Amino acid sequence: MSLRIGAVLLLLITLGLSWVLGGWAGYRQVEQESLEESFRYRQLVANELNRYLPIPELMAEHPLMARALQNPDDPRTILDANEEMQRMATIVGSSDVYLMDTSGLTIAANNYQQEDSFVGRRFDFRPYFSDALASGDSAIYFALGLMSGVRGLYFSHPVRADSGEIAGVIAVKVLVHELESQWHRPASLSEAEMVVLDQSGVSFLASRPAWLYRDFSGGSNGALSLETRQRYPERELQPMQIAQLGRPWGLSEQSAKIRFHTPEGNQEYLSVRTPLPRLDWTLQVMVSTAPVLWTRLGFVVAGLAIYVGVLLAWLYLRERYRREAELALRGEQLERRVAERTRDLEHSNQQLLAEISERERAQSELRETQQELIQAAKLAVLGQMSAGLNHEMNQPLTAIQTYARNSRRFLEKGAMDMVDANLSEIISLCDKMAELTRQFKVFARKSEGPPSVVDLRQSVDAALKIIKAQKNSAGIDIRWNRPEQPVMCHGDLIRIEQVMVNLLANAVQAVEEREAPVITIDVVPVDGHWRCTVRDNGYGLPGNTEQIFEPFFTTKSVKQGLGLGLSISRQIVDALGGTLTGRNRSDGPGAEFVLTLQQREATE
Ligand code: ADP
Repeated sequence: MSLRIGAVLLLLITLGLSWVLGGWAGYRQVEQESLEESFRYRQLVANELNRYLPIPELMAEHPLMARALQNPDDPRTILDANEEMQRMATIVGSSDVYLMDTSGLTIAANNYQQEDSFVGRRFDFRPYFSDALASGDSAIYFALGLMSGVRGLYFSHPVRADSGEIAGVIAVKVLVHELESQWHRPASLSEAEMVVLDQSGVSFLASRPAWLYRDFSGGSNGALSLETRQRYPERELQPMQIAQLGRPWGLSEQSAKIRFHTPEGNQEYLSVRTPLPRLDWTLQVMVSTAPVLWTRLGFVVAGLAIYVGVLLAWLYLRERYRREAELALRGEQLERRVAERTRDLEHSNQQLLAEISERERAQSELRETQQELIQAAKLAVLGQMSAGLNHEMNQPLTAIQTYARNSRRFLEKGAMDMVDANLSEIISLCDKMAELTRQFKVFARKSEGPPSVVDLRQSVDAALKIIKAQKNSAGIDIRWNRPEQPVMCHGDLIRIEQVMVNLLANAVQAVEEREAPVITIDVVPVDGHWRCTVRDNGYGLPGNTEQIFEPFFTTKSVKQGLGLGLSISRQIVDALGGTLTGRNRSDGPGAEFVLTLQQREATE
């Protein structure tokens, strides 16, 4: 808001200043041209005066003049003088040349032959006569001719007798209207006027006829003197209605602004007054102030243009500065933000690194724990199986014992073939036991190395051997629908075997009470996987089937189970990239567990 007020204020100041400066420049130009014209005109008048000034003196020295004055009654001498004056008038181009005696009476004149001849007239009241007489030197005067009423410049000089006394005065009249016609208005100033004023302020030369013989003094002289009235006989000498408007700023003292009140209306002029040489004349050049208005308007337009230019430049610079500042600020903000982000990123990076190492540590701990759990579970299974194993081992041991005793008896009797047959039995029993223990040894060992491509059938075979060695599996119909082709999958023989042992052991426990216990194992390919299903016709799963995969979930007594088998099995299968699910059978009583593993090519 204040900016707008400032701009408006500045505009007003600019306009005001332009107006004032325009006025100054306009008036200065007008004044300058007026002064130049005044100077020229002054020179012109000076030349004119200088031309005529020495002439009466030269004429006065002519012996004829003094002679005529001394012999005014001698017609011969007077005639000579008249003729001489006529000749002189013709030579110098003046209008009149005449000779007066000391009383002011004209005794000879160039116009002696004319009707209105000066001869016999008295001009003692004319200052050019009295001045020359009094001073004894040349005199100049301006007046209207008494007879002709024509404006004239009078040059006079005393005529001295041989004795040196003043005997009379010779006068030369020169017409001045030519001075008027030599006035030229300055080329660029259309409304330029001029008046030449005498010492009383009365105009006797004017560029406008209406301004001739007017009183330009503005009443400052008071009533015009008698001499002035005599100078312009029969003229009214009406005062001009002039209002003084003061001097415009920056102009010289001879300049002033004036206003004429005329019947046609008021007109304003810049008036420049300059004194003319020798005489008490004043040249007043008046120029219409109208061009000043145009100069002023020109300055105002220029000022306005400068103002607009400056304003636009200022606005542009301000906008540019604002944008630069904004850009710098944005750059700073950006840098700050980048720095903050970088800090944040570094921080979160460090956090991430810490988390990663923490996770790696946790994972390795988990792996170790898993391994330990698997091992613990295996040992638990072994523990559970130990009772059955005991039975399994005792039976062949008892049989071996019996065969050995019988053999001894047969040996005593010499029945060598019977001994041989018994020994064969013993060997086969020992082989069986060795095979059994070997299976357990394999089961108990820790798995090593990464998963590879294995035949699923082998793991099932090995698991079945362990299961069948248990006492409680006797009498159960275990149907292993063994595929003829290898079932190659991504896995680990020992781990898959462990899973199968878990599933089969649970199935055996579930069908123990059944009248016709049946466990079925099938392997079929489905969408790039092998699906191995273990079904039983036991008591089935409890309500929440997912719960059975949780660690330590069991429905069995402490001797029978720890509740770890299925949870460990699932972890094993997950780690191999497969799945393990359990549900109750839809086609009858009992549960079914489905193990899927990724198919692989045999060559892999
Ligand atoms: P455990 O056998 O030591 O109890 P598991 O994790 O192997 O531990 O089994 C968890 C539970 O799942 C068992 O207690 C049992 O209730 C149930 N379960 C597992 N297999 C079967 C099955 N074939 N038939 C019925 N229930 C089963």
